[in-house]
Amino acid sequence: MSERPRIVIVGAGISGLTAAYRLAEAFDITVLEAADRAGGHIRTEERGGLLLEWGPDSLVAHKPAGERLCRELGLGSRLLRLRSGGSRMQVVTGGRLQQVPEGYLMIAPTRMMPLIRSPLLSPLGRTRAALERMIPARRDEADESLQSFVTRRWGQEAYERVAEPVFGGLFAADATRLSAQACVPRMHALENTYGNVATGLRKMMAAHGAGNRPRAGVYALDGGMSVLVEALEQRLPDGALRFRTSVCDLQRGGAGWRLLLDGGETLDADAVVLACPAFVASRLLRATAPELAAQLDAVEYASCATVNLLYDASAMRTPLHGFGFFVARSENSPLLACNYASLKFDGRAPLGCVLLRAFLGGAGRASLDGLDDGQLVRVAHEGLAALLDLRGAPRFGRARRFIDALPQPVVGIGQTRERLAAGSDRLALCGSACGWVGLPDCIESAEKAAERVAEETARSEGIERAG
Ligand SMILES: Cc1cc2nc3c(=O)[nH]c(=O)nc-3n(C[C@H](O)[C@H](O)[C@H](O)COP(=O)(O)OP(=O)(O)OC[C@H]3O[C@@H](n4cnc5c(N)ncnc54)[C@H](O)[C@@H]3O)c2cc1C
Repeated sequence: MSERPRIVIVGAGISGLTAAYRLAEAFDITVLEAADRAGGHIRTEERGGLLLEWGPDSLVAHKPAGERLCRELGLGSRLLRLRSGGSRMQVVTGGRLQQVPEGYLMIAPTRMMPLIRSPLLSPLGRTRAALERMIPARRDEADESLQSFVTRRWGQEAYERVAEPVFGGLFAADATRLSAQACVPRMHALENTYGNVATGLRKMMAAHGAGNRPRAGVYALDGGMSVLVEALEQRLPDGALRFRTSVCDLQRGGAGWRLLLDGGETLDADAVVLACPAFVASRLLRATAPELAAQLDAVEYASCATVNLLYDASAMRTPLHGFGFFVARSENSPLLACNYASLKFDGRAPLGCVLLRAFLGGAGRASLDGLDDGQLVRVAHEGLAALLDLRGAPRFGRARRFIDALPQPVVGIGQTRERLAAGSDRLALCGSACGWVGLPDCIESAEKAAERVAEETARSEGIERAG
């Protein structure tokens, strides 16, 4: 029998694996995973010269937790940057693909000439966006919707034609409900500090100095995101990961917790980390910790589908620019976004072919429920063919659904995350269970959860042994 306290982690997505990796040195760990594989939403498939990412394909560089973990696991040399070719965002509004003006920082124009020359906004819309520095600050640190923040600062058109498609697409969200503090925390804070965002950004950039700016862009992994999952799995002790093992209930037991598994087995743990979706965590805690369960119910989820489509390069009658696009909700299109996978990163498709990754669905958009996978492929192809002027059918097309997959960063999510991160005695929550979305944030929240539960467990074990 192991002398070390046992910590059970529920869920082997990126959050559960990260927490397990951090805890494995000092504790006896067990990771329980309902599926027959690790990775959760991370799912890379290699197939006939294609590298298909169904879930996440990249890590944002300005949140360092993802890159740091990759380097620590010896994956530094496998981090891929975007291929050259321009990284300007594109949006679909008014039925066509349009470039977001150069110098746009997510929601904020930082260069006047490209903004003034851009046809994306009307002359009135451009003037309104350019006047951001003249708009008085709200001087209120409370959260507000992204829609309210962007409309107040840069005007309605800047919201409808840039912020809405970009953030609606990134989170498969109804952007009217998104939180400004969660989606653009730095810009929201700059308004309070400097009175307007333009001045704040200028001062921030000057303070960082040319060589010391926060990292921009994204990283992928050579071999796909599953490489990170495999590296974490390899660091766990033999037998620590149990697949096809669903946790059905969680009760207080002895000094810690008792987990009821789907086969009727029970497992005792000194501490538990919940790294499963929030709605699963809520179910597990309903009887034992009803208040925490109610807070977990506040985390909303959206569904979407990914469609990977492979075309001959000759199908592109018009050359593709940039790395993809987001579709404004006002288009009433089933397409949410598309990224040009093989233009974005090396090693995704054979020479002479172009791999496109389309996203369908999302909150507040037409439901995909009535469509089978073949129809999803057809809908995605038809949408792309019209927008990108494609000739002929795809050589390959497949779809995968992600049901209730993406926690929604809606107004108030910051407080919900804080409350959930506090967990309960010898119980920590992280990643999706805390309402986080995006690999770097999930990794960081898992590291914090592991640290908290390790401290608590070590402290109470010390007390018990001394007592
Ligand atoms: C289509 C798509 C594209 C995305 N693209 C990006 C991107 O490019 N970059 C980025 O940073 N992020 C992206 N994300 C978000 C990112 O994938 C997620 O935020 C992250 O993977 C969530 O990890 P997690 O471990 O917290 O949760 P999950 O991945 O949901 O893992 C939870 C695990 O818990 C298991 N589980 C559930 N119930 C039980 C139970 N009762 N008992 C035991 N186990 C259970 C599940 O099977 C699952 O393995 C994308 C997400 C999707 C869906």
